[in-house]
Amino acid sequence: MKILITGGAGFIGSHLTKFHLAKNDEVTVVDNFITGNKKNLESEINNKNLKIIEADIVNFNFSTLLPFDIIYDLASPASPKDFINLSIEILKANSLGLMNILDFFVKSNSKTMVFSSTSEVYGDPLEHPQKESYFGHVNPVGIRSCYDEGKRFAEALMMAYFRKYNKDIRIARIFNTYGPYMKRDDGRVVSNFVNQAINNQSLTVYGNGFQTRSLCYVSDMVEGLHSIATTQNRAGEIINIGNSNEKTILEIADIIKKLSRSQSKVVFKTIDQDDPKRRCPDISKAKNLLNWKPKINLEEGLIKTIEYFKNL
Ligand code: NAD
Ligand code: UDP
Repeated sequence: MKILITGGAGFIGSHLTKFHLAKNDEVTVVDNFITGNKKNLESEINNKNLKIIEADIVNFNFSTLLPFDIIYDLASPASPKDFINLSIEILKANSLGLMNILDFFVKSNSKTMVFSSTSEVYGDPLEHPQKESYFGHVNPVGIRSCYDEGKRFAEALMMAYFRKYNKDIRIARIFNTYGPYMKRDDGRVVSNFVNQAINNQSLTVYGNGFQTRSLCYVSDMVEGLHSIATTQNRAGEIINIGNSNEKTILEIADIIKKLSRSQSKVVFKTIDQDDPKRRCPDISKAKNLLNWKPKINLEEGLIKTIEYFKNL
């Protein structure tokens, strides 16, 4: 199969690229490396089935490419740390960038398009766990709004193209994902806590640490994205992909300390505006429609992640 992955040099994108290369698919990556890194694909650099194009999805001329069986759009900065410095880039990638890809998708007659949306479309949710039918609780002008509203606009755009052109378009709502190839300094909870723990620094808990997240290991995420792309007759579907094992941030800090045998302390820092208090996916739709569910439990995934960062 011929696969296009925009954002294919990022954390999730590089795993997805390697997953498809392992199936002998031909993969084209379009990435401007704003938050990703070519080094994430270093192990595949001599693979003849991989083509890497350094370009911004906002202005790249996709019509220079041939049609694809699957197009995955993962190109967007995604860490809360980027919500201030890269706010305009996030908004552009999820509007102009996605529109550019969708126009190519339609004109080239490529087969299936998957967009990587996010649990952030639910904002600071008032319903728990979050089902796909929940409309969300989002501050349209807060510091997270570039990302939340960017992704909400992107979903609206996907559905407008789906309704107008009747093309095979699918939306993955990705929940917090972790694993090797996360950036050490991207500011997310797992990369921060693991690196703090293995370097004997204090683990920085924002707020009181009672807020929750449900962490999905990256190989499960990649299998989920692949299932969304390849399961028959799922055009127009919006599907949560994540792990429903919900933990408080304090619990996550404790587990990481224990698994890395760290003596680090926990220190409390101020929490940013609109940080969601509870987040947990309802994944019954993915289980029913895709026959997918996560396989890697939290301890197993964290051990692999700790090993990765120790060996960096
Ligand atoms: P990442 O930052 O590691 O990867 C994003 C990739 O996109 C990077 O390689 C970056 O250089 C590239 N990129 C960004 N803007 C671009 C542009 N305009 N043109 C070309 N390339 C561009 O982030 P990630 O965690 O791998 O996230 C991938 C996707 O999954 C994102 O769309 C993100 O919103 C979504 N997502 C991730 C998570 C998570 O927990 N990691 C959760 C929800 C949604
Ligand atoms: N967090 C924390 N300490 C850190 C990094 C993050 O307490 O060093 C908290 C953050 O406030 C949030 C949760 O961990 O409540 C998850 O944050 P992350 O940036 O990983 O992703 P989010 O789910 O907020 O997009």
